[in-house]
Amino acid sequence: MKLIVIGGVASGTSAAARATRVNPDVEVTLYEKDDDISYSGCGLPYYISGVIDERSSLIINTPEKFSDKYGITMKASHEVTKIDPEKKEIHYKDLVNDEEGTDSYDKLIISTGAKPIMPPIPGIDLKNIVSLRTVNHADRHRRITTNSEVNKVTIVGGGLIGMEMAEAYAELGLEVTVVEKSEHILSLINSELSEKVENHCRENGVKFFLGQGVTEFKGKDKVEKVILDSGKEIETDMVLIAIGIRPVSKLAKEAGIELGVQDSIKVNGRMETNLDDIWACGDCVQSVNLVSGHPAWVPLGSTANKQGRVAGENAVGGNNFHRGILGTGITKVFDYIVATTGIKEDEAKAAGFDPFSITIKAPNHAGYYPGFEYFSLRGIFDKETGRILGAEGVGRSGVDKRIDVLATAIYAEQTADDLFQIDLGYAPPYSVPKDPVAILGMLAK
Ligand code: FAD
Repeated sequence: MKLIVIGGVASGTSAAARATRVNPDVEVTLYEKDDDISYSGCGLPYYISGVIDERSSLIINTPEKFSDKYGITMKASHEVTKIDPEKKEIHYKDLVNDEEGTDSYDKLIISTGAKPIMPPIPGIDLKNIVSLRTVNHADRHRRITTNSEVNKVTIVGGGLIGMEMAEAYAELGLEVTVVEKSEHILSLINSELSEKVENHCRENGVKFFLGQGVTEFKGKDKVEKVILDSGKEIETDMVLIAIGIRPVSKLAKEAGIELGVQDSIKVNGRMETNLDDIWACGDCVQSVNLVSGHPAWVPLGSTANKQGRVAGENAVGGNNFHRGILGTGITKVFDYIVATTGIKEDEAKAAGFDPFSITIKAPNHAGYYPGFEYFSLRGIFDKETGRILGAEGVGRSGVDKRIDVLATAIYAEQTADDLFQIDLGYAPPYSVPKDPVAILGMLAK
């Protein structure tokens, strides 16, 4: 059996490795258009800031190492240009030698991921305007930020990546300005909580222009100014565009594969597409939100790794399943942890729930124990059943563990009463006798 995998970062390498484990007789070839494979995209901000010194620390496997470890034929710097499902062939271009060719498959896995949106704003092609997705992008950031003439950076987009990078640039001693079109950053959490993060960033020297869009970038050769729709001009030496990403699904679409939410590839829980013998996984595919039951596209490394495993296993005769997602996400913005899971009020209403929310000032641990602090914890519940539908948290400590407990409760379709009843661990350095999760449940009951 011959398996071809297209894309070699999180989901593609996970799929290829799993396929060889499940069926040692399978012949696997992995095509990746970049020269790096198998790296942690999630670690890129920390490599740029210098918290992680070595480029190699982010790279789990080089093409050679991956090939040796799993007996896979590696085709790095090879772009797949066409899938022919009738002939069961792919067409590729060898980007180093500028040669074209075809290869045949019995089974195919598409794990082409996602790429940053670069808006067609005048001046976008000026030097020192960058995006962030790959290790090569991060190298470019490092080359620019180590230039002593670069002191001011403007981030367009206050989402997860924009805010992780605000911290990274501040760590490098740069003056950081964030421009965000919405009234608040981090749309994945409620605005009341986003404001707390904005204030924390301001304490760390970050400037914000909220509710404003960019109309133009100006400069002779390199970017020098960012022009906002309010007429405001921001002087800058560098710009990061972080307004979101799009699934890479053109190849699949041209092959006749059905697309869904935001043009992500439609798959079932076995990661099968609508075409025989073609699977897809990772940031290029649509998932199901387990609370609303609605299709959702939430591209995250945590999900990509699991889906890759499922696709790899099933493509070679296994029977695994990915049930869906809760959209659980967590990030570090300076000293704050920002986390979310489940659905928001508007999604809950659209799914037929009657939602209400409760926000508490939650103690991270016992008040008399050193390091005591409050954090904000918000739960979204259904009025009729008391079911917990979503949760968000912001603060310096205690957020990560509560979000994971609440994600587990949401996954298990538990109620406010269950949150009170769950027997969680308590000792003064770790919690309070009635844990914030229990307090949330008590108040929502
Ligand atoms: P990708 O990583 O996009 O890889 C797809 C690969 O396919 C690419 O290398 C691409 O070159 C290749 N490809 C595409 N088309 C072709 C073609 N035609 N031929 C050959 N190759 C092709 N997720 C989290 O869960 N937690 C985090 O903290 C987190 N932080 C992040 C921080 C940053 C800065 C970034 C950029 C991402 C972060 N993510 C995080 C997201 C995470 O990195 C992605 O979800 C994950 O990389 C998705 O893996 P993937 O393999 O599906 O797609």
